[in-house]
Amino acid sequence: MHRVLFVFALLALVPNAALAQTTSGRAESPAPELSSARPGRAPGQAIDEEYTRKIREYTTETFFLSPLVDYLPASSTVPTPKAVLGDIAGAPTKLPYSKEVYAYMRMLEKATPRVKVFSIGTTEEGREMIAVAVASDELMAKLDDNRARLAKLADPRSMQMNDALADEIAATTAPVYYITGTIHSPEAGAPTALMELAYRLAVDESPYVRNIRDHVITLITPIVEVDGRDRVVDIYNWHVKHPGETYPNLVYWGHYVAHDNNRDAMGATLKLTQNILKAYIDWKPQVLHDLHESVAFLYDNTIGDGPFNAWIDPLLTNEWQMIGWNNVQEMTRFGMPGVFAHGDFDTWSPGYLMFIAATHNGISRLYETFGNGGTAETVQRTLSPSETQRTWYRQNPPLPYVKWSLRNNNNYEQTGLLVSLSYVANNRQQLLRNFYEKSKRSVLKPKFEGPAAYVLSAADPRLGSQADLLRVLQKQGVEISRATQDFTVQVPTRGGARGAQRDSARTAARDTSMARARTEARSFPAGSYIIRMDQPYSRIADALLDYQYWSPNDPQKNPYDDTGWTFPEGFAVQSVRVTDQKVLDVPMQRVTGDVTNPGGVTGSGTVFLVNHNADNALATLRYRLKTADFQTSEEPFEVGGRKYNRGSFIIRGAAAADVDRAARELGVKVFASSAAPSVKTHPARAARVAILHTWLGTQTEGWWRQAFDQYGIPFDYISVQDVARTPNLNARWDVILFPPAGGGPQGIVDGMPMWRNPMPWKNTPETPNIGTWAQTDDMRPGLGFQGLANLQSFVKQGGVLVTVDNTADFAIQYGFANGVTANRPPRLHVVGSLLRSRTVDDASPIVYGMRDSLALYSDDGQTFSVSSTRGGGRFGRFGSGAPTRATGRGSVDDPDVTPGMAPLDPRFQPPAAPTVEPWQLPPVTDDMMRNPINVIPPAQRPRVVLRYADQKDLLVSGLLDGNDVSQRPVVVDVPVEKGHVVMFANNPIYRGETIGSYFLVFNTMLNWDNLSAGRKLDAR
Ligand SMILES: [Zn+2]
Repeated sequence: MHRVLFVFALLALVPNAALAQTTSGRAESPAPELSSARPGRAPGQAIDEEYTRKIREYTTETFFLSPLVDYLPASSTVPTPKAVLGDIAGAPTKLPYSKEVYAYMRMLEKATPRVKVFSIGTTEEGREMIAVAVASDELMAKLDDNRARLAKLADPRSMQMNDALADEIAATTAPVYYITGTIHSPEAGAPTALMELAYRLAVDESPYVRNIRDHVITLITPIVEVDGRDRVVDIYNWHVKHPGETYPNLVYWGHYVAHDNNRDAMGATLKLTQNILKAYIDWKPQVLHDLHESVAFLYDNTIGDGPFNAWIDPLLTNEWQMIGWNNVQEMTRFGMPGVFAHGDFDTWSPGYLMFIAATHNGISRLYETFGNGGTAETVQRTLSPSETQRTWYRQNPPLPYVKWSLRNNNNYEQTGLLVSLSYVANNRQQLLRNFYEKSKRSVLKPKFEGPAAYVLSAADPRLGSQADLLRVLQKQGVEISRATQDFTVQVPTRGGARGAQRDSARTAARDTSMARARTEARSFPAGSYIIRMDQPYSRIADALLDYQYWSPNDPQKNPYDDTGWTFPEGFAVQSVRVTDQKVLDVPMQRVTGDVTNPGGVTGSGTVFLVNHNADNALATLRYRLKTADFQTSEEPFEVGGRKYNRGSFIIRGAAAADVDRAARELGVKVFASSAAPSVKTHPARAARVAILHTWLGTQTEGWWRQAFDQYGIPFDYISVQDVARTPNLNARWDVILFPPAGGGPQGIVDGMPMWRNPMPWKNTPETPNIGTWAQTDDMRPGLGFQGLANLQSFVKQGGVLVTVDNTADFAIQYGFANGVTANRPPRLHVVGSLLRSRTVDDASPIVYGMRDSLALYSDDGQTFSVSSTRGGGRFGRFGSGAPTRATGRGSVDDPDVTPGMAPLDPRFQPPAAPTVEPWQLPPVTDDMMRNPINVIPPAQRPRVVLRYADQKDLLVSGLLDGNDVSQRPVVVDVPVEKGHVVMFANNPIYRGETIGSYFLVFNTMLNWDNLSAGRKLDAR
């Protein structure tokens, strides 16, 4: 209720702002009649009769139209979308390819000075991305000048925080409103809506549209996921040509990921994110508005629900309310049903594309309009009661049973956008002042909420990962500096004994009374990186480097996405949050160019030594020097005063020049020596690796492929059908990685139902955009029993199968993992959190070079239990802390007494059972060994490599409830005859945010035929 009153109070402010602007007298004659213009066609406006007739024909009800889109203005010089579509935008027969959409935008550019097309980069598959600017002739003529003024507002340091000057600029500058379409490929309506919108903005002479054109620069990227767009059009066309047949799901959208492309705004690992980020930083838009299609009929989820992201300026959350409720108000006035805001989207994670604006002092916005799932056809739709219920925020709900067309969708998208553009035109001065104010408060961050800076030490043992992290910040437009001398600052005192580095981060996260905390001096060497918070983009840096805490008591019981993401933890890099403002006075230099980690060969000799620090470039080095002899040390060693971790490389048989070149390129430090150290070694091999996928879902494994491509590690990409067809998998691969896959264990084996027609996913003239890198004549068959047998034979013959999350469940269910069971805590105990692990067996090659207490990403809190018996595992789970006596007299430590009998003679007491921790195998007893049919031989028992930390240390970032995850195994190596199944309950390679745990996988690959190195076997 509070919220409603608050919202209306804000709405009441709006007319004042508009008034202030029209009376300021400084703006370039904002004619009052324009700003107060009613929406709709101007009396003298010529219209395109045929196009207008089609709009009405394809719209299924008149109330799905608005006065803004129920006609198309005519132009004698500018072509309508029909010029390339052959029909109007939103026709029930046509989804245009990207090249058609771009061709139209470039026709507009040719026909009118009010439109300009900019190339903003290419996709992973080389397709172009564009941004189309539309505004009045006058604004277009001074785009650069306008941009320069926006750049001043965006960086208040550039004008010495001069508020009066900022007001002056705000009064004479046009805001930029950036619209992005169809990031989600089956949400396919936006490109045609945006083609028509560009046309309307360029030619419509109604006062309402002129007001927008004269005062706002509209920037449009009609297609964000271009690779996926062309594929969805392929599938749609295939469907049209094969009526009555079932058609394939869009199993690939982008080259790597599907829906998760809208979770990349933190890591910025995808080209589409990088290109939009660059365009955003270049244009300095006030609004970034991303279009989606899943909710009926228009859900403006800009406002969102709590918890709001903790690093953004409250001015922004007010702007969300003002713009969002105005949107609902105006469209409700038009009589369009089903327009609402608020809803159940929470605004916690900054991973969404639109959030690029939120974390860079702009305004993030998002629409869900109603779509028909990747088809242009008109479809009868039935909505659920929850979708059509009338609630406080949805007073005019969508209709329960309705015929829905692509044109309806295009009407809603364009109407909503025009209403928003009009709002921004009329309130531009206020929004530009806010833009300046938010930028200024970002610069003043050290003085207000803090911190003053983050420091990443030059003494970090993982400088390669550190450089990876700093490059993420650079992509985000964050300025990075480097100390030119040693320095000391005050940091909060760590709780308890001064421990290893890991404590600092944890303490900082926990310390809720930072201001009052005692401090201690902390020194950093010259060359340490300083990320100053007195810069315009301090908020995104803070959001990525800080810790997250989501209370189990939060009223929001449906976290929309991950609850924790702390980048330094995910990257296994040290980062110190410094509130001491003296850090800003440390002599430092701005870093220019990409941060790199210097590497190369030092010294001379034919033996090359590389310390294993788990920097991912080490795996690349192994593959780069493929023919060289790499030995890995099974113990730590020391040469020439340098300490080398267990797992370090000893390289022979490579030319010094080759090693040096590779080491320089990859940022790996190599030390040449005349002799090898005397330490036990085994070969580190460039294993032949396959990444295995199903045809049910490829989203999550896509992040694995991306990581391998990024680090230049070769792999074959195979499907479960390839496994079924390949009897001798060992002849081709050493390691098969099976990342989280679509479907449960049964779905992996069964695939899709075999009834009806085959469903090809294939590059053909009919479907030219389906990738050649993954294809099949029929998506339906799964692994099948032949595939299962082949996979089992692969492992038994010495191959290594890596399973993760649901594929670990698959391994358990189909008998690949003796002695392991999986546990999942109840819902909402863990939701996309970072959890602390502990190393159980540091002799296992899987953890070579890794630091203890690594933070792991956990989707839902999955863990394992282990046992020495086949199928067992329960005992391990409940072994620790379980009650040791039965019900009876006395207290818990007392013996029971049988009435009428003498107390129990001690010789009848069994020997005391040893304490078994939750991560340990319970000991094998005499009873079990009497006829040990189900007792696993010692060398075949599961070997727990990592477990989760104790409860008090478990949570790194995000949500953690209950105590059913702590101490349980999370990474387990299961020997199976000659091979191994390595099982992950965490996802070690995820969204480019967990590169600190990638090496758990790389170690498994490099040591694939020596995974049992260092293992201590049970005596029995
Ligand atoms: Zn979407």
